[in-house]
Amino acid sequence: MAVTIKSQREIELMREAGRILGLVHSELGKEIKPGMTTKAIDRLGETMIRDYGCKPSFLHLYDYPASICVSVNDEVIHGIPSKHRIIREGDIVSLDVGVEYKGYHSDAARTWGVGEISKEAAQLIDVTRQSFFEGIKYAKAGNHLNDISKAIQAYAESFGYGVVRDFVGHGIGQQVHEDPEVPNFAQRKKGIKLMPGMTLAIEPMINQGTWEVEWMADEWTIVTADGKLSAHYENTILITDGEPEILSI
Ligand code: MG
Repeated sequence: MAVTIKSQREIELMREAGRILGLVHSELGKEIKPGMTTKAIDRLGETMIRDYGCKPSFLHLYDYPASICVSVNDEVIHGIPSKHRIIREGDIVSLDVGVEYKGYHSDAARTWGVGEISKEAAQLIDVTRQSFFEGIKYAKAGNHLNDISKAIQAYAESFGYGVVRDFVGHGIGQQVHEDPEVPNFAQRKKGIKLMPGMTLAIEPMINQGTWEVEWMADEWTIVTADGKLSAHYENTILITDGEPEILSI
């Protein structure tokens, strides 16, 4: 599939999808408390999405069984919400949420600390978030995709962290996952030239230790190979003639 360039009308719809997604994340983040199940987070998030007149993009996507991915501590991504999984003080919880508004998707992830968390966990969350912002400094028309990838990797690795290789960001629009792939680590090729109207989901997944990950038996949940923590930060952005526009904040 070719990389799509969005029209002004499509950009307006993606702005609205992103605005709603930003609200869902900030409202959901405030609701996370010790003692809550990951299933309760999913139920609450799905209700918010539908109350805003949107659909959860991830429900049934590739047969995923829930609306929100809830990944705790050493879980990197794709944690399946469960009524048996209780979050506790000191945990870190990554929420990956997609919303569909009038046929257009927005995708974003945040990692939240539950109550008081360790200094190390807080730093991992901050660096993961900042690695996104380091990357999008290069998300400008005329630059190449690899400029973003390299910047994310260089920043995260300067703290000794591992950058997940097995999963990457992506184009987004009428499909949740469109071309191009957006790696969070340097490629041998410079990648596509960025053009105004491209919409990308940039999503560093950063591990406290090794970059290596494993699949759990549920065939969804991805965990760090060494059992150390992982954090995730993602936004849907628009390439413009000038600075990138973050659509999902
Ligand atoms: Mg994504």
